[in-house]
Amino acid sequence: QNSDAERMLERDREWLLPVYARFPIVMERGEGVYLFDTSGNRYLDMMAGLGVNALGHAHPRMVRATADQARMLVHLSPQYCTPYAGELAERLCALSGMEGVFYSTGGSEAVEGAIKVARAYAAEAFGPHKHRIVSLLGSYHGRTLGSLAVTGQTKYRDNFGPDLPGVDFVVRDDLASLQAAVSDETCCILIETVLGEGGVYEVSPEFLAEARRLADKHHALLVLDEIQCGLGRTGDWFAFPRIGVKPDVLILGKPLGGGIPLSALLVTGPLFHALGLGKHGSTLGGSPMACRLGLEFLSVVEDEGLLARVTDTGAYLRTHLDGLARELDIAMEARGIGLIQGLELSIPGRPIAESALEQGLMLNFVQGNVMRFLPSFLLERQHVDTAMEIIRPLLHKANR
Ligand code: PMP
Repeated sequence: QNSDAERMLERDREWLLPVYARFPIVMERGEGVYLFDTSGNRYLDMMAGLGVNALGHAHPRMVRATADQARMLVHLSPQYCTPYAGELAERLCALSGMEGVFYSTGGSEAVEGAIKVARAYAAEAFGPHKHRIVSLLGSYHGRTLGSLAVTGQTKYRDNFGPDLPGVDFVVRDDLASLQAAVSDETCCILIETVLGEGGVYEVSPEFLAEARRLADKHHALLVLDEIQCGLGRTGDWFAFPRIGVKPDVLILGKPLGGGIPLSALLVTGPLFHALGLGKHGSTLGGSPMACRLGLEFLSVVEDEGLLARVTDTGAYLRTHLDGLARELDIAMEARGIGLIQGLELSIPGRPIAESALEQGLMLNFVQGNVMRFLPSFLLERQHVDTAMEIIRPLLHKANR
């Protein structure tokens, strides 16, 4: 590393709260599926900014739209109509079958909004006793206090209590557990359609169908968090249509603003007025810059046929991961769909990630031992081959 990089790393250590376990390099620039550090070393990016950079880095159309919009209007206030928020909402609803949109900035904030929609709707129709939320053990919904309270992993909540009350956790894919938890006091069932941070698990169609049935029976809302798995990552625009259930509330984020913070909660028609005038807000949510880039992101995915590419490259990657799981004692199982894939190891992932980085490959681990792939939709089979040329020997060595 050069001395500039050393200085930046040192400054970060001095001034940034030590919340993240970072690697000792400084990334300066990205292009397509590659990143470059301050010494000019190139890295193949298999995590795409935790799923945000779905069009890779510096996509020419995104660069052009960013520069153009920066000259026009970056931000105003959600109290004014600006050109792109409504158009993006219309497009998102056409794609998802939903009927109304509220924008915020990050995923956690959209989860908070979804909880407020569910509670307000239930309180208005049935009274405040109907406030309970059913959520999945192992799920991840964010770090703000509300989204944290519905995240099904106690390790993230330690010392931050008391938690938001009224949350009941159930075991993923366990119908009996779900049936026992849902009652007339439930205002919503919240499900992460494909659990990402929890280790890459698809929720089963039977479980989702039962959630839909129970929600209807108890006049509760079905809320799907597709912040990580939505917007093309599974090879379809969303994960839920393939499973055949329709949510009442759909939560999107990550790639939505093309890298500029933008998240959205989408509702069906009956919920359009659940959050009335003055009942919710987000200063930076739905800015003209973010919404313009959101529209450009959707158009690029369509124009370049990227959903088909996600399906193809994802299946190709999966074949390799299944092979590793067969070959190696330390590789337990491959899971996922499209370009959200995981390989569960029986050893800690950090040393693997560090060695891979030294060889020009950016890997990401969740739960300490699940190699999670969230690459950009531009990834091709040849990139998977390159990644495997690095991953396979590393895992074989660790397997000895
Ligand atoms: N829900 C899911 C499914 C997520 O993957 C994430 C982010 N990893 C969040 C919510 C929280 O999003 P953010 O970090 O943008 O607040």
